[in-house]
Amino acid sequence: MPVAALLLIAFCAQADLLTDIQKLSDTDMQGRKTGTAGAGLARELISERFAHLRLDRFNNSYQQAFVYSSWPEKTGINVLAWRRGCTYPNHYIVVTAHYDHLGIQGRKIFHGADDNASGVAAMLELAARLNHFCPVYSYIFLATDAEESGLHGSKAFIAKPPVPPGSIVMNLNLDMISQPDRRGKLYLTGARRYPALAAQLDATFSTLQFLHHRGPGRIARDNPRYNWPNASDHGPFHRAGIPYLFFGGQEHAYYHTVQDTWQRIEPVFLDMAMQAIWQTVQWLEQQPPQALRPDSH
Ligand SMILES: [Zn+2]
Repeated sequence: MPVAALLLIAFCAQADLLTDIQKLSDTDMQGRKTGTAGAGLARELISERFAHLRLDRFNNSYQQAFVYSSWPEKTGINVLAWRRGCTYPNHYIVVTAHYDHLGIQGRKIFHGADDNASGVAAMLELAARLNHFCPVYSYIFLATDAEESGLHGSKAFIAKPPVPPGSIVMNLNLDMISQPDRRGKLYLTGARRYPALAAQLDATFSTLQFLHHRGPGRIARDNPRYNWPNASDHGPFHRAGIPYLFFGGQEHAYYHTVQDTWQRIEPVFLDMAMQAIWQTVQWLEQQPPQALRPDSH
């Protein structure tokens, strides 16, 4: 692709990203709690974007319901689409971002702009960028439900994947990418498996901090949020033996509060996060499947 085209794509990104975050964390969405009308509106928006991008459906639908509790019965609905690659069409990169959040408590709406409208918006942006050419890998874009209550959407996907599990070479998980933590950092976990990628990103992004999958530190690890493989949707992939890369923030002042609104998002930070994610995907596109997941087939 010519450099001018790449620059144009990068330039257009910011506006779409912010607009999507704004829409997904709008008052109408009522905090997108699993099973609520607000979550339904979020699904409609994501499905419309998938259709606009002409992404393919599994089983004729972008939406996949799953039961995650039998008594009382609780149901979640994942929103997913896929795009066929040109070089390794039978090898899949699964991009995940949970769209559910905490909903309403009393009169308070937990908008969840950073957590995780930001990740969903970045996933949609990624799908849009990959639409400008035929990617090397096939991609599945998976907006998960019921992450906040126990990673249920990604567990349901892994329990019944729409493609053979051995053909999934990577999970790229995006959760809370628009808000720096107190140290001003965005975190990437899982990259130690790919030293060349880590070196390239490290040289480009000073705000990116690399974490081992066990989490930040011994004391912090006792906090469930810092139990890194359980912190977000990459956990079930990791436990299924699928490598992951997890871009995410740590707890910040607005984390799980009513103040997590789109107005508080830092556009420069968001832009950096998107650039780092895009550079990562471009790197992945240059690797053969065996380099990403040696046991893939
Ligand atoms: Zn989250």
